[in-house]
Amino acid sequence: MRKKTTTKNTVKANRNWRGSHDHNACVVDALSTASSLCDKRRVRLTALRRRVLELIWSSHKPIGAYALLDILKSEHSSAQPPTVYRALDFLKEQGLVHRIESLNAFIGCTEPYHSHSGMFFICDHCGDAVEMEGAGIDAAMQNTAEARGFQIQTRTIEASGLCPGCQMA
Ligand SMILES: [Zn+2]
Ligand SMILES: [Zn+2]
Ligand SMILES: [Zn+2]
Repeated sequence: MRKKTTTKNTVKANRNWRGSHDHNACVVDALSTASSLCDKRRVRLTALRRRVLELIWSSHKPIGAYALLDILKSEHSSAQPPTVYRALDFLKEQGLVHRIESLNAFIGCTEPYHSHSGMFFICDHCGDAVEMEGAGIDAAMQNTAEARGFQIQTRTIEASGLCPGCQMA
């Protein structure tokens, strides 16, 4: 008997496409996960870092540093590029956000407790991105690299296409 049968089939809302879930719950969940994770690691989720994370989580669409800066400037006239970059560096280090290379933009991580590199499905039409379940892909890549005697340093795994909503549109 497997013990985890009940949680196994539960897909968290924030792993899903827009329209398929209550996104407000997603944001609340992401922010509370972030604050308990930071407490546990004894690092400070300052008001600014929290606000940047909240802005990133405001949708499932990756957002760039300058778009974040524009919003922050309207809230704090003193906000400057380094303000945003420092907050983003912190959020990346803590695994709370990922940078999507092909878009040079950021998205909230759905599993910040487990250290991993983000892998994404990105919708070409609406721009939403969803994290792939990674373990199998990670292991396959690692095994293939070992078989070729290759040492992986960075990986970018991003697939573009159409999300369920845009396939119907
Ligand atoms: Zn959501
Ligand atoms: Zn992630
Ligand atoms: Zn879409």
